[in-house]
Amino acid sequence: MVAGGEVNGMDDWRQFDIANPTEEHSMLREMLRDFVREEVEPQALIHDREERFNLQLFRKLGDYGLLGITVPEEYGGAGMDVTAAAIVNEELSYSDPGFCLAYLAHALLMVNNLAVNGNDEQKHRILPKVCSGEWVSCMAMSEPDYGTDVLGMQTTAVEQEDGTWVINGNKMWITNGVLDEAGTPADIVWLYARTGEDDRGRPAISTFIVEHGMPGYKGGQKILDKTGMRGSNTSELVFDDCIVPAANLVGNVGGSIGHMMRNLELERISLAAMSLGIARRSLSAMNRYASERQAFGKPLRNFGQIQRHIGESWSEYRAMRSYIYDTARRMDVGESGNRLDSDGVKLFATTVAKNIADRAMQVLGGYGYVGEYVVERLWRDAKLLEIGGGTLESHQKNISRDLADNNAAIDE
Ligand SMILES: Cc1cc2nc3c(=O)[nH]c(=O)nc-3n(C[C@H](O)[C@H](O)[C@H](O)COP(=O)(O)OP(=O)(O)OC[C@H]3O[C@@H](n4cnc5c(N)ncnc54)[C@H](O)[C@@H]3O)c2cc1C
Repeated sequence: MVAGGEVNGMDDWRQFDIANPTEEHSMLREMLRDFVREEVEPQALIHDREERFNLQLFRKLGDYGLLGITVPEEYGGAGMDVTAAAIVNEELSYSDPGFCLAYLAHALLMVNNLAVNGNDEQKHRILPKVCSGEWVSCMAMSEPDYGTDVLGMQTTAVEQEDGTWVINGNKMWITNGVLDEAGTPADIVWLYARTGEDDRGRPAISTFIVEHGMPGYKGGQKILDKTGMRGSNTSELVFDDCIVPAANLVGNVGGSIGHMMRNLELERISLAAMSLGIARRSLSAMNRYASERQAFGKPLRNFGQIQRHIGESWSEYRAMRSYIYDTARRMDVGESGNRLDSDGVKLFATTVAKNIADRAMQVLGGYGYVGEYVVERLWRDAKLLEIGGGTLESHQKNISRDLADNNAAIDE
């Protein structure tokens, strides 16, 4: 039996906290808790109610180095790892998952993607602007008729004789697609488009960086009346004979499926971390309320059925916390190969968060059903996480497929 002692340079391995593995991670979390309490929480309800994205607050995330959390410092980023990205998503979502979704779409779906896959010129030209918040970005993959079967996408890019590309098609459900009520499109888009077929007849997908002002790039209509995540804008994007210079093609023609799949792994762990924030806040609300509120002359927590809500929520919350940070710890911002667990954490955590938010609402009774008590907003926001970035069914399919080739993963 191991009793204390040194493991991997740690004086006492039992002190190790998987959610705060280093001093730097703990400091990041503390800084975020202050920021969230002072700046995020006061605006969350009103932006949800009015379905408005808080662009001003978003830009402040740049001042704190959060918009380029995984980007090397030489480009204006914080140079941190997947655990740090998970911490940011957890802490922002403790208060405002809608605002966090806008953060995630920018910092992890576009900015990280560019830092990993862009060339030197693209990185030097664009990363400082997106890390500071001067430019707000989005990632456009889904289309009106293609979501889960994303490789069926119909947006095309055709190369011209002068080397420029002409892009035609519509993208759908794009977080940060428009920045305001006037429909101002995102400053910069990470766009996937079809550029032909490979020799086996599979679609060749390429990535283009489309910038505001390029001819033929337009914001579509903002999607209103979403169930949750109303603090972020979701819209269509239109590419109508959009002209993109050769310099804005990322990587090789037809070579994007790899970096699309790699970035989806980061997206999924980040969405799972958002679920963790929702679960923690919901559990905390139900736990406090169960002591404060009396029924039949006793605190609610004296009743067995309420104990079940609290007890199950605690154990599920602790399980998701461990699974998420254990997966984050083993991931590299620029590498793929963790699909089993990036799908696994999202499959588990999103439904657990939704259930814990639901129990919180149940424990709070009528008060849980109104905005002031927060959990109704978290309950609505939680549902999106079972759909966006891959549906539950897509995770079940991927896990089952990956385990078919790798039974050994179960015994590791
Ligand atoms: C608020 C919001 C923000 C979003 N942000 C972005 C963004 O920034 N960028 C972006 O590109 N996309 C974004 N999306 C799109 C999101 O990723 C898609 O909605 C998601 O991938 C599902 O695609 P779909 O909606 O077309 O559903 P579909 O793919 O049509 O699926 C409908 C149902 O069928 C099921 N299904 C489909 N295929 C199978 C199968 N083979 N086996 C079993 N079941 C199956 C699905 O699981 C689901 O239950 C966003 C969506 C929302 C709602």
